[in-house]
Amino acid sequence: MGDKVRVRFAPSPTGYLHLGSARTALFNWLYARHTGGKFLLRIEDTDRVRSDRKFLEEILADLKWMGLDWDEEPVYQSERFDVYRKEAENMLQAGKAYKEGDAVIFRVENGRVLELDDLIHGRISFSTDEIKDQVMIKSDGSPAYNFCCVVDDAGMGITHIIRGDDHISNTPKQMLFYEALGQPPPEFGHMPLMMGTDGAKLSKRHGGVSVEEYRDQGFLPEAMANYLMLLGWSPGDGREMISLEEAVGIFDIKDMRGVQSKFDAQKLEWMNGEYIMAAGIEELVPLIEDRLVSAGMDMSGVTGEYLAKLVTLYKIRIKKLSEFAGLTDCFFRDDFKVDEKGKRKYLDREENKAGVRAFADRLEGLGDFSRENIEKICRDIAGEMDLKAAQIIHPTRMAISGKTGGAGLFEMMEVLGKERVIGRMKKAAGRGGDT
Ligand code: GLU
Repeated sequence: MGDKVRVRFAPSPTGYLHLGSARTALFNWLYARHTGGKFLLRIEDTDRVRSDRKFLEEILADLKWMGLDWDEEPVYQSERFDVYRKEAENMLQAGKAYKEGDAVIFRVENGRVLELDDLIHGRISFSTDEIKDQVMIKSDGSPAYNFCCVVDDAGMGITHIIRGDDHISNTPKQMLFYEALGQPPPEFGHMPLMMGTDGAKLSKRHGGVSVEEYRDQGFLPEAMANYLMLLGWSPGDGREMISLEEAVGIFDIKDMRGVQSKFDAQKLEWMNGEYIMAAGIEELVPLIEDRLVSAGMDMSGVTGEYLAKLVTLYKIRIKKLSEFAGLTDCFFRDDFKVDEKGKRKYLDREENKAGVRAFADRLEGLGDFSRENIEKICRDIAGEMDLKAAQIIHPTRMAISGKTGGAGLFEMMEVLGKERVIGRMKKAAGRGGDT
């Protein structure tokens, strides 16, 4: 095979890139890159009504986003209608097809058995008794899928077709077209369809069906590619974290046999969290910045350094980039969202408020507002007032962030800065005696 491998991904631009299609693209890409072959794109836009430029652009952007680059210029079926008509004409001349009105129909000979050695399923036999005569050109002049697919795959020199099981029933029809065109068929590998963990067809309720939806929620492309890879292949040794680059090195179609393909959004989230945790701050800051802006945070005066500190504190606490803004609103606005239940729990009691007030008062005199210094004062105050440190920490966190959780309190305080912290503590704890 070597440098002769040519595979293709053939999306129909009638909708967003489905996760199942993204997985198909990924495996074709892996196979091409592993063998040093070519990964081609063919845009199956024969349906002029349903095909939309917007979907095409989105599909191409999603592929690039996942790190799947392609070779050569994409082939557009909408530009090749004359080629299909000519091939159909040849078949008519050769007596292999007949006309029915303006449609051209391929004659299927009954009583034959077609054998397919599928790369993933092994041998599959088909009887031509089950296959009706096949439309090649519809009466409106547009080509039928099985026919133009074969004309193009043959014309593009495709050597291997890796696609979903939903195409198995098309394969014997396509084999007949190869035969009629006098071309050897390529190798076929059909992957089990991607299902939800409940075994049902993937739908919105499983967490989303398109790459775009996941991208919007703040999944990283590396996590997406890594997770999709595991739904049809396994790097072995029970290993799960693997980059595209590493996979290219060890990918083998043989290992695609018998691998489960249940899509588990929770597992993908877990994996995304791992990738976020491992990502560099410089890589995350611009992504997070975009999300904060979209969430309506006031970013005036926010420096890269400030964002970098926040990203460092919070990246270990999120599974999706979309969670960041909600957790960190107190770093961008004074009217941050307040967890009312937590507020009642931690800031209703006078002794808690007194602790927060004493802490705030002592902080006023602090010169170097570092987490270590802040913590020392907190512990001192707790000792002096005979309180547990937690009795000061939780109410203070509520006062400065409106939340019961988050990063470590003293780190949050250091990043927020002295003035904002003290102001919020005093506001939340009152002046004392007047509650
Ligand atoms: N446009 C077809 C699809 O999206 C391509 C099928 C194929 O790979 O032959 O399902």
